[in-house]
Amino acid sequence: MSITTDTAAHPALETLRERMLGAAAIGSSASVLHWDQETKMPPEGVEPRGRQLAALARIYHEQVTSAEVGDLISECEACNDLMADETSDAAATIRRLRTDYDRETCIPVDLVEEEATLGSQAQHNWAEARRNADFSQFQPWLEKVVALLRRKADCYGWAEGGEPWDALADGYEPGCTAAWVESVFTPLRSRLQTLLQRIQGSTTPPSNDFNEVRLPIDAQEAFVREVAEAIGFDFRRGRMDVSTHPFCTGFHPRDVRITTRFHEDNVNDALGSTMHECGHAIYEQGLRQDEAGLPLGSAVSLGIHESQSRLWENQVGRSRQFWQWCRPVLVKHFGDAVAGFDVDTLYRSVNIVRPDFIRVEADEATYNMHIMIRFELERALMTGDLNVADVPDAWAQRYRDYLDIEVPDDARGCLQDVHWSMVSMGYFPTYTLGNLYSAQFFDAATREIPNLEDGFADGEFDRLRSWLNEKIHRQGRRYLPADLCEVVTGAPLCADHLMSYLEGKYGEIYGL
Ligand code: ZN
Repeated sequence: MSITTDTAAHPALETLRERMLGAAAIGSSASVLHWDQETKMPPEGVEPRGRQLAALARIYHEQVTSAEVGDLISECEACNDLMADETSDAAATIRRLRTDYDRETCIPVDLVEEEATLGSQAQHNWAEARRNADFSQFQPWLEKVVALLRRKADCYGWAEGGEPWDALADGYEPGCTAAWVESVFTPLRSRLQTLLQRIQGSTTPPSNDFNEVRLPIDAQEAFVREVAEAIGFDFRRGRMDVSTHPFCTGFHPRDVRITTRFHEDNVNDALGSTMHECGHAIYEQGLRQDEAGLPLGSAVSLGIHESQSRLWENQVGRSRQFWQWCRPVLVKHFGDAVAGFDVDTLYRSVNIVRPDFIRVEADEATYNMHIMIRFELERALMTGDLNVADVPDAWAQRYRDYLDIEVPDDARGCLQDVHWSMVSMGYFPTYTLGNLYSAQFFDAATREIPNLEDGFADGEFDRLRSWLNEKIHRQGRRYLPADLCEVVTGAPLCADHLMSYLEGKYGEIYGL
C-alpha cells in the first residue's frame, strides 16, 4: 500500500486507513461467499452459508462502528494539516469516513439484527406469495418492512423540508432526496409518454426475427467473451460465469467477477446482460488500486455504477456503429444461422420497444416508467399516504396510466421484485438515475472525443474506456454523485440528454 506523502506523517490517519482496510477485507470476503452462493454452491449449502455471512457481517459492523475508529476520525478532523486543503486526498477520505461512521453508528445493534431476521423471513414469504400470485400472503410482511424502515429512517433523520424516504435513499445514492428525484423524473415522464404513444402508432416497427433465432449456448459463450474482451473487461483481473440473475461483484480492482446467462432462442439477452455487467466491471477494475477498500478507491453510488453498465449496454451496444463492428464477429461464431441479417436489421432488432409488465425485461424506453411507479409507491408507503393493503390497486392503476397495460396478476404486478422483501426502499430510482447519468456522460464524451461513435465501427472502444476511467472511475467517492455529474459534464443532471438520445434513435428506427 503506497501512502501519499501528506498522510505518512500522520499516525492517526495511518492507523485509520489500516483499520478500514481490515474491515474492507472482511467485507470483500463476504462478497466472495455471495459470489460462490450464486454460481457454484450446492443447494443444501444455503443454511450454513447464511451463518458464515451473518458472522462476517457482525465482525464488519463491529469494526466500522468501533469507538477507536470514531476517535481516529475525530483526531484526523482536528488536524489542520490534513483538513486545510479541502481538495486533498486525505481531506476527501476523512470526510467520507465521517459520513459512513455517523450513518453506521446511529442504528442500534438490535435494529440491525431485527432487520436481518425480518429480511430472511420476508424474502421467504415473498417468494411463496409470488409463486401463488397472491399479494395477501405477503401483505403482513410488507407491513412489518414498512414499519421497520420508518424506524430506521427516524434513526438516520433527514434534512429540513425532506421526508423519511430521503434517509433511506441516502444509503444508496448519497445526497439523493425524493423532491430532487421527482424534479428530474417529472419532465422525463411526460416526454416518455409522448414518445411511447408515437412509437405505438408507428407503421414500420422493426422485425423480431433475429431475436428468435436459435443459437448453440457454447457458441454464444465464445461470442460474448470476445465482445467483453473487446470493450475492455480484463480477464486477467476478472472472471465470467453463469447465474440465473446476472450480476457483478468486485473484491478488489484485481479480482472482479461478472455473471451472465444464456437462452438458446435469445442471444440478444446474453449479449445485453454481458455488456451491462462488463460496464459495472470496467468501473470496478478501473478504481484506484492504491486506495482499494478506502473511499477514494470505491464506487461512489449505485446510480453512477448503473450509469457505467447502461452506457456500455445501451449507448454503445445498441448503436448502429457497434453493430457494424459486431456483425462480422457474430457471423464468425454462428455462421449461416445469422449471415442473412444485415447491419440495419440487427440494429433495429436490438432496439424494439414493447410495453410489458416485467421491469427486468423492459426496453430502454419503457424501463424508466417501471422505476417511476415503484418510486412513487414506496415514497407514499414511507410517508403513510399509501396503505400496504392498497399497493396492488395503486400498482395496477399506474401501469394503466403510464404504460396503458392491464396487470394480469400480482406475480406479474407488485410481487415481481425482490427489493422490498429485502427490507430495502430508496433503491429503485438509482436504476433510472443510472440511465440519465449514462446519457449525460455519453454526450460529454462525444463532445470531448473526436468521432467517438464512428470509432466503434472499427472496434475502437479504448478511448471511451480511458475517458470514463479518468473522469469517473479514478475519482472514487471524492464527490457526491450529483456533484460528480456537474464536474464531468458541466451541468446538473437533467432528463434532456436521455430523452434526446431516445427520441433521436427511435425517431429514426420507427419512422416517427
Ligand atoms: Zn446494473
